[in-house]
Amino acid sequence: MGKKIAVLPGDGIGPEITAQAVRVVEALGLGIGMAEAPVGGAGYDAAGDPLPAETFKLCEASDAILFGAVGGPKYDTLPRPQRPEQGLLRLRKHFDLYANLRPAIVYPELAHASSLKAEVVAGLDLLILRELTGDIYFGQPRGVRTNEKGEREGFDTMRYTEGEIRRIAKTAFEAARKRSRRVCSVDKANVLETTQFWRDVVTEVHKDYADVELSHMYVDNAAMQLVRNPKQFDVIVTGNMFGDILSDEASMLTGSIGMLPSASLNAMGFGMYEPIHGSAPDIAGKGVANPLATILSAAMLMRYSLGQEAAACRIEAAVRKVLAQGYRTADITEPGCRQVGTVAMGDAVLAAL
Ligand code: NAD
Repeated sequence: MGKKIAVLPGDGIGPEITAQAVRVVEALGLGIGMAEAPVGGAGYDAAGDPLPAETFKLCEASDAILFGAVGGPKYDTLPRPQRPEQGLLRLRKHFDLYANLRPAIVYPELAHASSLKAEVVAGLDLLILRELTGDIYFGQPRGVRTNEKGEREGFDTMRYTEGEIRRIAKTAFEAARKRSRRVCSVDKANVLETTQFWRDVVTEVHKDYADVELSHMYVDNAAMQLVRNPKQFDVIVTGNMFGDILSDEASMLTGSIGMLPSASLNAMGFGMYEPIHGSAPDIAGKGVANPLATILSAAMLMRYSLGQEAAACRIEAAVRKVLAQGYRTADITEPGCRQVGTVAMGDAVLAAL
């Protein structure tokens, strides 16, 4: 049966950038079906719901979701259940998208955009894998209470089940097999019981992946190593909170938010693929947004949900080629480059395919 992608452009620059990714997927000539539906603010405008029933049905009937971005000033005062980001959160929850994959790649041509020295980051190709559904962000009990001394105190619960750790560890080892076969698990096992348990379970799961090298690192050291020598890493796997922080740190190593794709996967390989940036209301409708993060998200979709490794590599090679040819959108512009808008960047990628 033919594969199907649900395309949810969302708000702001979302429709502009997803349109370019759709053209790229069509140009692969693989007969992949694609259908669009509104989400976020667009969903609210169309049906009074950031995740309208029709959109939800389309996702259920698809093999993967290509997501643009949601949000905008127009929706900031809506009650929480109607806010654009609820569309995203409900999709994550419903499909149990527990594994968040964020590659941080520095193309040689863009190494100057990083705040670090070019030689430290040029050629960086790192994948951060963040557990997305557990940890202190969701653990119960939590709250603010008055303690026995009559003083107010806040508290949260860090918690991970063995099953949750096993599945993210497996995802890490499987992902490493498609890369340089090295996994670094990041924890704070010297202080936190939950993360000592994390380390033990990851080590157990590793027994099934003898072809992949496993190392462990404390999170404070990992934060330091990411800016000292980021190229030492291949795959970093970590929990929800540490992953939240380290993935943002890693994305800034590249210096170009318009270049970074992401994937959120469940145990069946179903996934939602989206650029890491938001809906950029400041440039929406101007035709200047960088579509490459979304195009690279489509490449991840090919690799992780459709099993089309060759197609993924073709898209990634085309992106490398347009950068080498000097094409740049405004966010990554530099003297002497060929500055183009969103559609012309899409054209260049199509030509390079
Ligand atoms: P943002 O990522 O939208 O924009 C930050 C800056 O980066 C802006 O100056 C923007 O113009 C620029 N930028 C972002 N993507 C770009 C691209 N592809 N090409 C060129 N420049 C780009 O973050 P923000 O301004 O904090 O948030 C704007 C809206 O997006 C808010 O409503 C926020 O809630 C929402 N948001 C959504 C998501 C998501 O849908 N996953 C993620 C983050 C923020």
